[in-house]
Amino acid sequence: MKTYGYAAVEQGTSLVPFTFERRESNGDDVTIEILYSGVCHSDLHMAKNDWGRAVYPLVPGHEIVGKVIAIGRDVTKFKIGDHVAVGTFIDSCMACDQCQKGEEHMCREILTETYNGQDRVTGENTYGGYAKHIVVKEHFVLSIPDRLDISRAAPLLCAGITTYSPLRTWNVGPGTRVGIIGLGGLGHMAVKLAVGLGADVTVLSRSKNKEADALQLGAHHLLDTSDEAAMQQALNGFDVILDTVPVKHDINPYIPLLDIDGTFVVVGQLGLLEEPFTVPMIMGRRRIAGSMIGGIAETQEMLNFCARQNILPDCEMIRMDQINEAFERLERSDVRYRFVIDMSTL
Ligand code: NAP
Ligand code: ZN
Repeated sequence: MKTYGYAAVEQGTSLVPFTFERRESNGDDVTIEILYSGVCHSDLHMAKNDWGRAVYPLVPGHEIVGKVIAIGRDVTKFKIGDHVAVGTFIDSCMACDQCQKGEEHMCREILTETYNGQDRVTGENTYGGYAKHIVVKEHFVLSIPDRLDISRAAPLLCAGITTYSPLRTWNVGPGTRVGIIGLGGLGHMAVKLAVGLGADVTVLSRSKNKEADALQLGAHHLLDTSDEAAMQQALNGFDVILDTVPVKHDINPYIPLLDIDGTFVVVGQLGLLEEPFTVPMIMGRRRIAGSMIGGIAETQEMLNFCARQNILPDCEMIRMDQINEAFERLERSDVRYRFVIDMSTL
C-alpha cells in the first residue's frame, strides 16, 4: 500500500516528508494506522548514522501505537479497531532456541528491526513509525490494555521494555537498592518501573538540576555525580545500577558504588566505554552486564504491569513537522521526558 511519513534522505540532513510503499499484507499480517510515535534517542543516533550502519532513506520510529485497520485471514489475536502497539522489531526467525523460548530479540538469525532492518518477506529495507501506516505480522504486535492512555503509551515500547527487562533479569523488588544513571527517556521510565517494583531508587545525574523532577517521578534520592563527597558517601550503596547515558563515557567512578555482588547494566551506549578498571570488579565480585530491549511476551507483561500500576511516561506531545527541533533538543538533553509525535498532524 502507498503511505507517507518523514525520512532522513541522507546522512546529516533534516527529516523531510517522504512517500513510500508498505509491503502487501499477508495472511498473518495486521495493518495499523499509526496514531502516536515516540522519539527515542536511537532514532537520532540512526538518523545521524552514529553507528555507521544507517541505510537511507531512513524512516525512524520504533515506539508505535495505533489502530488496526485491516487483518489477514489467519489473524486471530486482533480485530479491526483494536488499539495495538509495535516496538523495536517486527520479525525474527521463529525457529532458533531463543525465538522458541520467547526471546525473539536475541534471535540467532538476526531480528528484523522495525526500521533500518531487512524485511524477511521482501528483502527490502524496513521503514519505521514516523509514518501513517505499518504492516506487521501479528506475533510481533502487542495489545494495549484498556486502562492505558494510548496518547502516552508509545514510549513504553522501547524506553519501557529496555528498562523493565534488566530490572526483572536482576530480580529488582522490594528493598533492592537501584541506581539510574541519566534522567532522560529511558532513565525516567527506569525510575517509575523500579519504584513500581518496590525498589529503593536513586537517580545519578550530572548535577542537582533534576532533583525535584526525580523525586516527583517517584525516586527516593538524587545523587549528583559531580559532587565528590556525595560519591564517596554512596560507595557500596547499590545492588543494581542501570546506565542509560547515550555517549561514550567513563564508568569507573560508578563501579565502586555497587555493593558486593552488585550488577552494573549498560543499556545506553551501543559502542565504546572508557576502559574499565578491574580492581573493584575483582575485589567485590561486581559485574558489568548489558541488556537490549526485551522479547514479545515480556513486552506484553510490561504493558500489563504498567496498566495495573498506572505507570505512564511523561510525554511532550509534538507535531510531525517539529521533529527536527525535537532532535536538536534531544541532543542537548532538553526533554522532559519523552517526545511523542501526534501522528494526526502528519
Ligand atoms: P535521552 O532521552 O537523550 O536521555 C539520556 C540521558 O543521559 C540524558 O537525559 C542525561 O541525563 C544523560 N546524558 C546525556 N548526555 C550525557 C553525557 N555527555 N554525560 C553523562 N550523561 C549524559 O536518551 P534515551 O532515549 O533515554 O536513550 C539513551 C540511550 O539508550 C541511547 O544511546 C539509546 O540509543 C540507547 N537505547 C538502548 C536500548 C537497548 O536496547 N539497550 C534501547 C533504547 C535506547 P542527566 O541530565 O540526568 O545526566
Ligand atoms: Zn528506542
